[in-house]
Amino acid sequence: MIVLLKKKPGKDELTNLVEWLCSMGLDVHVSEGKERMLLGLIGDTSCVDIDLIRALDIVDDVKRIQEPFKNANRKLHPDDSRIDLGVTQIGGGTFQLIAGPYLIETEEQICTIAREVKQAGATMLRGGAFSPRTSPYAFQGLREEGIRLLLAAKRETGLPVVTELMDIAQLEYFDDVDVIQVGARNSQNYELLRELGRLRKPILLKRGSANTMQELLMSAEYIMAGGNENVILCERGIRTFEPYTQNTLDLSAVPALKELSHLPVIVDPSRAVGIARLVCPMALAAAAAGADGVMVEVHNDPQHALCEGPQSITPAEFAALARKVNSVRSALTC
Ligand code: PEP
Ligand code: MN
Repeated sequence: MIVLLKKKPGKDELTNLVEWLCSMGLDVHVSEGKERMLLGLIGDTSCVDIDLIRALDIVDDVKRIQEPFKNANRKLHPDDSRIDLGVTQIGGGTFQLIAGPYLIETEEQICTIAREVKQAGATMLRGGAFSPRTSPYAFQGLREEGIRLLLAAKRETGLPVVTELMDIAQLEYFDDVDVIQVGARNSQNYELLRELGRLRKPILLKRGSANTMQELLMSAEYIMAGGNENVILCERGIRTFEPYTQNTLDLSAVPALKELSHLPVIVDPSRAVGIARLVCPMALAAAAAGADGVMVEVHNDPQHALCEGPQSITPAEFAALARKVNSVRSALTC
């Protein structure tokens, strides 16, 4: 439910109203938009007497939010969310160029890639350590050793890092990780999402390969309902009948999610297409569609990568991608 306040509400009246609403067991979010202040009421609002609230002097209107996602809903939070990483921010008009290997292999590999992508304009470093592989016989990632190497690359370059957590038991290794990734496969692991809701660390939540946008937003809601509002949505392609590309990048999800929600939306074209030469055009399309950033798989030696070589671009190709993405972004503002 949303309570739209009149312009410049009296401070005491506002405090009284918020306290009264909280006493009904509701969670009250105060959102100061550009135009107006509004209160978002989350919880069981069936006992709330709408007419009683509407009759208050400081209240302009009261509306129910029809969608099942509340915390993630733009109606409750009209301005874009900005997720603060200290050295950088995600969302709210900023743009992230996240780059790095699908999997961390050696210290030299991750540090070389980190240096080169930074030089090319990357703002964050990605790298898999705990990796969800389709086959149990495939290389599973270096696990905690992988995180240690990723953090070495972070120290060397200053780039904030994002890496996947598959199970809450792995959390002890994530203290210095800037953003925790929840992969497509775990996107509806509600127990895991609930645990991540207890943290305040930013979560990059990928869309499950067969999930609707509403299902993705409900997964975000699981994290946010626990009090962790630092959620970043990630479109990484969905499974369709088209076998040529690994998945089908749902670009319409970018403006649609941004309409429905205030959360930042990042696009991962590498997972989406699975073919290196298609990554750059789709990254440009993502920027044109209004994404808050792109995350691309970069390897210094794709031919010898332990996995996902065919969809990995080189640091030089990433540098070209970064230049073109920046041109697309400047074209959008004219
Ligand atoms: C990844 O980005 O490392 C990954 C496994 O992606 P997804 O979960 O989108 O398949
Ligand atoms: Mn809250």
